[in-house]
Amino acid sequence: METPLTANIRPDGRLDRAGYEATGGYGALRKVLADMAPGEVTQMVKDSGLRGRGGAGFSTGMKWGFIPLDDERPTCIVANADEMEPGTFKDRILLEGDPHQMVEAMAVSGYAIQARYAFIFLREEYRPAARALERAIGEAYEAGYLGEDILGSGYHLDLQLHTSAGRYICGEETALLSALEGHRPLPRAKPPFPQQSGLWGRPTVVNNVETLCNVPHIVNHGAAWFQGLSRTEDAGTKLYGASGKVNRPGAWELPMGTTAREVVEEHAGGMRAGHRLRGMLPGGASTPFLTDEHLDLPLDFGHVAEAGSRLGTGAIVALDERTCPVGMLANLERFFARESCGWCTPCRDGLPWTERILRAIDRGEGREGDLDNLALHCRHLGPGRTFCAHAPGAVGPLESGLKHFREDFERHIRERRCPWE
Ligand code: SF4
Repeated sequence: METPLTANIRPDGRLDRAGYEATGGYGALRKVLADMAPGEVTQMVKDSGLRGRGGAGFSTGMKWGFIPLDDERPTCIVANADEMEPGTFKDRILLEGDPHQMVEAMAVSGYAIQARYAFIFLREEYRPAARALERAIGEAYEAGYLGEDILGSGYHLDLQLHTSAGRYICGEETALLSALEGHRPLPRAKPPFPQQSGLWGRPTVVNNVETLCNVPHIVNHGAAWFQGLSRTEDAGTKLYGASGKVNRPGAWELPMGTTAREVVEEHAGGMRAGHRLRGMLPGGASTPFLTDEHLDLPLDFGHVAEAGSRLGTGAIVALDERTCPVGMLANLERFFARESCGWCTPCRDGLPWTERILRAIDRGEGREGDLDNLALHCRHLGPGRTFCAHAPGAVGPLESGLKHFREDFERHIRERRCPWE
């Protein structure tokens, strides 16, 4: 089984530039600069079937294809490393473990869209990753992989690390661009899309870290090789994670389409103390619940969507039969309510109400009509009702939790107590 993204991550310390070069590192950058036109790189990425690994799953090559290559304005490329989805820590592994892979990915992807400026927008808490990246960026400049006239090709790219002030909404691509410009991180209306008018009004591509890190490997080995890494229609490998009530929380690079059972039972060592998986958020905290019935579901974009959820970041948050789903949902909604940017009323005011109702039910103070009220909130906060996807993401677990764990909610209200206490 090939694991291109994590193959160079060593338990005994990360590779410096020379070590990365010894594994073939910066070969993809040399190849595109010497042998490939920018459009050819984009076409190769499009042909590979690479889809965004940050949550939305949009075709990466298609996203790049919207950049006008004949535009006079300097183009920008931004790596979204603001990994704040609860339960998700896959990008941290790549950034800390193989920072030169990230730098090369930025340079190759930047070349494809003829970017002049590149930024890595990093989560504030990721300080070891910041140190690793600062060092790798410095080494790449020294070797001529960044800056003016890269490797004598006539292509120029400046790469800068930007450490975020730390808000969940900064992970939304347009809010991220506002934050990078020094403004309050409010999402922006689309259109215009960032590819037409992004950072300081310039054509801009924003991609997730894991997405970008695939690019040098696609350039080195080709689109067909990338498709062959997967077990299903969605190409490549995926960094799957597991957290919650599992024996060995972690993240592992596996073929796209690996089942939830393999991730939980083989890689995460099963549920703690022999208990059983009751429910899971398959792609981080903002994805709707699946249950133990879905354990054999291939985790890819299509299959997870068909089952009523989203692949999201591929980070499973596992719930066992000892944990109160109402309490878990109350905690999740508190997080999302606090992280609302506050711009639109349904999200700013509606999410705190969901938390309050859930807390009351969890304490045994729920009332008849609370479940209808929660369902009403889910509708009012659903897709198309708010300015950005924060609110629909926030109520995804709640709406599905009301469906899959209804009896638990009803028992709380009927017995006027939490049955798990
Ligand atoms: S949905 Fe929430 S996070 Fe998104 S713009 Fe509205 S208030 Fe802000």
